[in-house]
Amino acid sequence: MSREFPAQVDVAIVGSGPTGATYARILSELRPDLTVATFEVGPLVTDPPGAHVKSIVDRDARAVAQHLSEGPADPEDDGRLRRAGTFLLPSGYQLDGEDGIPSVAMSSNVGGMGAHWTCACPRPGDSERVPFLPGFDELLDEAARLLGVSTDAFDDAPFAHEVRRRLAAEFDDDRPAERRVQSMPLAVRVSQDGTVTWSGSDVVFGDAARDNPRFTLIPDALVRRVVIEGGRTTGVVVVDRTDHSEHDVAASEVVVAADALRTPQLLWASGIRLPALGRHLNDQSQLIHAVRLRDVESTAESQVDPRGRTAVVQQSGVSWVPYTDAEPFHGQVMQLDASPVPLAPGDVPEPGSIVGLGWFCAKDISAEDRVTFDDTATDAYGMPAMQVHYTLTDVDHELLEAAQASIKRAAAALGEPLDAEPRTLAGGASLHYQGTVRMGPADDSTSVCDVSSRVWGVDGLRVAGNGVIPTPMACNPTLTSVALAVAGARHIADTLATAQRTHEEARG
Ligand SMILES: Cc1cc2nc3c(=O)[nH]c(=O)nc-3n(C[C@H](O)[C@H](O)[C@H](O)COP(=O)(O)OP(=O)(O)OC[C@H]3O[C@@H](n4cnc5c(N)ncnc54)[C@H](O)[C@@H]3O)c2cc1C
Repeated sequence: MSREFPAQVDVAIVGSGPTGATYARILSELRPDLTVATFEVGPLVTDPPGAHVKSIVDRDARAVAQHLSEGPADPEDDGRLRRAGTFLLPSGYQLDGEDGIPSVAMSSNVGGMGAHWTCACPRPGDSERVPFLPGFDELLDEAARLLGVSTDAFDDAPFAHEVRRRLAAEFDDDRPAERRVQSMPLAVRVSQDGTVTWSGSDVVFGDAARDNPRFTLIPDALVRRVVIEGGRTTGVVVVDRTDHSEHDVAASEVVVAADALRTPQLLWASGIRLPALGRHLNDQSQLIHAVRLRDVESTAESQVDPRGRTAVVQQSGVSWVPYTDAEPFHGQVMQLDASPVPLAPGDVPEPGSIVGLGWFCAKDISAEDRVTFDDTATDAYGMPAMQVHYTLTDVDHELLEAAQASIKRAAAALGEPLDAEPRTLAGGASLHYQGTVRMGPADDSTSVCDVSSRVWGVDGLRVAGNGVIPTPMACNPTLTSVALAVAGARHIADTLATAQRTHEEARG
């Protein structure tokens, strides 16, 4: 942590969410000789930096941390769905004649959305996978290591096996082993005494970055522009939001990991006009349903985190119905510790006997779905204002109907739905926005970066985050975007080594 702005670093990272933290971690592990600085526009809200806000035991203090993450403008309650710790686009989220993404959200704080997330880390399957990326499975393994992913966090939960048994009987026929119903991989650690620790960027940074004397993290620091000269990145211009002073920081490599909206925004503000910039924006349509489990035996007292702050009662855990091309939905089934709808008077269900189902759909990707930037109007940070162009296609509507049928099948297999019909959430509710700086195998105008996340045509500039994901993904994307960041970070480690060797060889 620092308030000193370095004049020069080897690598400048924009954004301290899980993907920016991945670059800091991998470079600290592989190249402790490099100087690395992370600039984060939001404030520090947790200790250690980047920890999940659920690590704040006191409710009021946690609410303050969430509020501090909600951007520079006071959130206006206009009825749109908004999650604590996030803020919405004030305007430009729904244009005339389009569906828009009304609840498209961001977080501004050390740790980014990774301080507020649910920690579900499923692996992509079938068409969700990035087909042209070498070593994709090993990269996903490494991402799971960095995020601290566990597949058995709530395995001893009494209803977990029953929930999965019922879902498996409904969905598992004809599925390969790895796409069968299973427990959701979660970036969570449960200690012997029941203490639950949710991973944030702190876990990704790890001691490797925290103890690295050449690594600096500067909060309240807005990167206004990446400086590009003669097709090469030479550094960044940073505004200190505590005193509005401006600083030039020279850098050999710049990584922009500023979320799926603000990464293309910063590239645009830096003069980059690649045809695919901001395009192929895709959000996952999301359906929810709640069910009372049929015929479950009431169990002993529910296990809760001894500090009383856990959001998950360990009754049924979190279960996963993986995406397949045949059933192209990502299903997530979570225990709810309270009913989401009023029950009959005197009807008090066992905690954990009500489960919430969330079904996510992959988007029918179109280049017309895009975020655009205004050269004259600015947002609350003084960056180019955004507009979202977004329309669900006929294919999307058909998929939503099929998802309705699928979630109802799951509900019927588990018990009695509390509502007759599942609910479709407002666009953006998924919090998973992808594609805006997407990766591609070739510079053919349909992508923004290569397999090492290098921006086409600009040496020394990389992008990170869910915006890099090129495929229509229905599952939670963070594990995948961290995997893509691992590939990019390793490439920097190799490239700077090569450059240094070449330099030394030239000197004889
Ligand atoms: C409530 C909630 C639940 C979620 N659940 C899940 C889940 O279960 N599984 C899953 O996979 N995903 C989930 N997500 C999404 C997940 O949090 C994101 O995928 C993940 O955080 C993306 O990481 P990132 O590093 O790319 O971006 P972010 O975490 O968004 O971080 C980007 C950072 O960049 C900073 N920044 C932006 N512009 C600038 C600038 N110009 N200068 C300096 N800094 C800048 C921002 O302030 C921010 O801190 C959830 C999100 C929320 C809010």
